[in-house]
Amino acid sequence: MRFRTCLSPLALVVVLAAGCGASSGANGGDPDPGADVLIGPDGAVVDTGPPAPDLVKNLSINEVSFFQGTKIVLMKDGAAPTANKTALAAGRAGRLRVYVTPGAAWVSRAVVATLTVTPGGGAAQSFVATQTVAGPSDDADIDSTLNFDVPTASFTMGATWSVVLRTPAGQPEGPTDGASYPADGTADAPAIKDPGAKFNLVLVPMIVSGITPDTSDGAIDAWKNAVYRLYPVTEVNLTVHAPYKYGSSVAATDSGGWSRALQTLLNLRQSEGAADDVFYYGILTPSSSFDAYCSRGCIGGIAPLSNNPSDTYGRGAIGLGWTSDFGFGTIAQELAHSLGRSHAPCNGAPQTDPGFPYKDGSIGVWGWNLTTSALVNPRVKDFMGYCDPPTWTSDYTFGGILTRLAYVAAHANVHYPKDVTHDFQVVSIAENGAMTWGDKVTLATPPLNEPRPLTYYDAGGHVLRTEIGYYYSLDAGGGLLLVPTPEAATRRLVMRDVRGEHMIPR
Ligand SMILES: [Zn+2]
Repeated sequence: MRFRTCLSPLALVVVLAAGCGASSGANGGDPDPGADVLIGPDGAVVDTGPPAPDLVKNLSINEVSFFQGTKIVLMKDGAAPTANKTALAAGRAGRLRVYVTPGAAWVSRAVVATLTVTPGGGAAQSFVATQTVAGPSDDADIDSTLNFDVPTASFTMGATWSVVLRTPAGQPEGPTDGASYPADGTADAPAIKDPGAKFNLVLVPMIVSGITPDTSDGAIDAWKNAVYRLYPVTEVNLTVHAPYKYGSSVAATDSGGWSRALQTLLNLRQSEGAADDVFYYGILTPSSSFDAYCSRGCIGGIAPLSNNPSDTYGRGAIGLGWTSDFGFGTIAQELAHSLGRSHAPCNGAPQTDPGFPYKDGSIGVWGWNLTTSALVNPRVKDFMGYCDPPTWTSDYTFGGILTRLAYVAAHANVHYPKDVTHDFQVVSIAENGAMTWGDKVTLATPPLNEPRPLTYYDAGGHVLRTEIGYYYSLDAGGGLLLVPTPEAATRRLVMRDVRGEHMIPR
């Protein structure tokens, strides 16, 4: 869930540093000119042909990192990385930065870097970047590193890479042993996982209180970008569902109402036979404006915590459909819940992930926004918490989503015993334990989330049968229980969990 407590103006911290200033002057104001133009010390384009011939002297490559949204170290101090909290997302684009340390005899001058990437099973690709190097590289200063915008499908599974630094003739004498990495041949990419060819997302405009959310081209692009910039995916394949009329209202702070709307979205996904690797996100705008809806606080979105990576019922979520930083943070967080991620510790978010590595809920490492070409400061908060925008992704969250997506992509078919039921009825369980029967649903594949033993009783108190139900905690508190559809004679069920036995009256 995302919850807004009030409408106080957001305390916007200045955290985004402008990126890619090195060659902007030579490209007529192109906001992201890339880094593949050769620029002389005076800032003019000097050459677009082959790089300068001489290996650079008195300058060492001390780090190479690939920013796919979050910083992922490829090499540090001559060694493969050991501290990354995420693998590389195979095939995803990003900004690759080469960090350098000048020796004592270094004098500021132009350095021409050549990056060669060979995709697994593909042909080598070369990229060239030029930068005037005046001093040691610094994470916070994009112009202090040699930068490459690496496109989609370069760092694929099995990719190798190398970097060489050269400079025009006339440099001072000195050693060249830091001018290339590796010294010979190519380096392997570090841990790398395949998130699948595309992230398939169906956006469902839910008509609530007679209001259809905005699905203009601009709005759809914005929703798509909100996911693409934060997720370890090569592409977001977003399709817009026909508007779906939802029969009930959804009050701003009514978690039960939100839970029922979520149930409807998850059941719609089942009834339409969505493929296993397709995620649904319902957007709703239940009032004339966000301010009108949220004037006394509101729930921004709700999702199941899909703990079992093979479970497909939980591959969906819903959230407010007004395009804003709050809405964009919400779609990222809710879909991440449906990918098994819990909350980051920020601003009182419940059910936090005990493994989250940064105590203040921050992203912990430098980030890079692929859609705006801007650095993101490590003090920015992770989008899995309840802190206000701007938020970004930690390496930890990026890695967790990547692991799940890689699992989904590689395990499209889970086989079930023939006689297992596909017919369920949903029970909403509120945070205080109150239970409400919901809709019946036939699942394409049986659920696999947290199992709960169930016993069915008739009016005389006789046991009709025992079954297994499947429980989905909601990030808002409470949960949804999928119960194998009871026969007409059932008068009550008893569910067992770690806290004891709970009666579900019919
Ligand atoms: Zn949440």
